[in-house]
Amino acid sequence: AKRNGRSSLSFFDPTMQAELLSRVRLENELREAQANDEWRLYYQPQVDQAGRCIGVEGLLRWQHPERGLVSPGVFIPLLETTELINPVGDWVLETACRQLAQWAHHPAFAELSVAVNVSPLQFRQVDFVAKVEAILQRTQAPCHKLKLEVTESLFLEERDDARDKMLRLKQKGVRFSLDDFGTGYSSLAYLAHLPLDQLKIDQSFVQQVIHSKANAAIVESTIALAQSLSLEVIAEGVERDDQQAWLLTHGCRTYQGYRYGRPMPLDALEAMLSAESTI
Ligand code: C2E
Ligand code: CA
Ligand code: CA
Ligand code: CA
Repeated sequence: AKRNGRSSLSFFDPTMQAELLSRVRLENELREAQANDEWRLYYQPQVDQAGRCIGVEGLLRWQHPERGLVSPGVFIPLLETTELINPVGDWVLETACRQLAQWAHHPAFAELSVAVNVSPLQFRQVDFVAKVEAILQRTQAPCHKLKLEVTESLFLEERDDARDKMLRLKQKGVRFSLDDFGTGYSSLAYLAHLPLDQLKIDQSFVQQVIHSKANAAIVESTIALAQSLSLEVIAEGVERDDQQAWLLTHGCRTYQGYRYGRPMPLDALEAMLSAESTI
């Protein structure tokens, strides 16, 4: 975002040129990441009120040969401007579904759901539904264990198209969670119109819930809204026991956050879940 404000600077400004060069280099490296097998899917636990892991969110990482493990905040925006988000998004879906298919045969993991983030651009592809169906078919993943996390921005335009795509996927059993709820600017009207299964309370509200009355009020209203619309509700960014206790008191019974585990590679997740029945 910093770069945008600078467009009036001379093209020959040396710092800007350096930024431009590194951006072009980053873009080229991102193009090669797939071929070089540099994408990783990390998994963060989602737990119920007893601390049992009921699912995971898959979060993308870039294992860069020199830079090391790169977080998505750095590269997702660039993937979105270059439309590379589509092939990378396919990789994420395919990886998550393969994992679901493997876990299906494993008593300790068979009940886990896997949530993946879907960028609005990715969702807007005309063949998005067909792609997801093909991946489900190819991997033989249990469809009802796949959850797609979408954001409000998706519903600003082409709401009917979004609804239609969601309904087609829901027929297969795929579920939908509304990520970052409350951080957008859209009205709540779309909630009645869309076949959602879950609201995900954004971590910015959760982290202030103890110390800010305003944030507490927002979280309380979100939980009440979810209940009256018969939607599940999950709180993300739960870091401490007092936050979890507050959420439970106010009716939110599913949690995700550092309190239970950071996003981790598959082997670490499986080791953690094999060692303890609750987190
Ligand atoms: P998000 O979907 O809102 O994911 C939650 C982010 O919060 C993750 O950051 C997670 O590591 C972090 N987080 C989880 N629990 C806590 C906590 O208790 N405290 C704090 N401070 N942070 C916590 P991450 O993995 O860096 O991902 C950042 C964003 O990148 C995601 O936000 C999502 O919007 C995007 N992203 C990640 N993977 C993908 C992907 O496969 N596709 C797309 N389109 N976007 C992705
Ligand atoms: Ca998410
Ligand atoms: Ca989120
Ligand atoms: Ca977020």
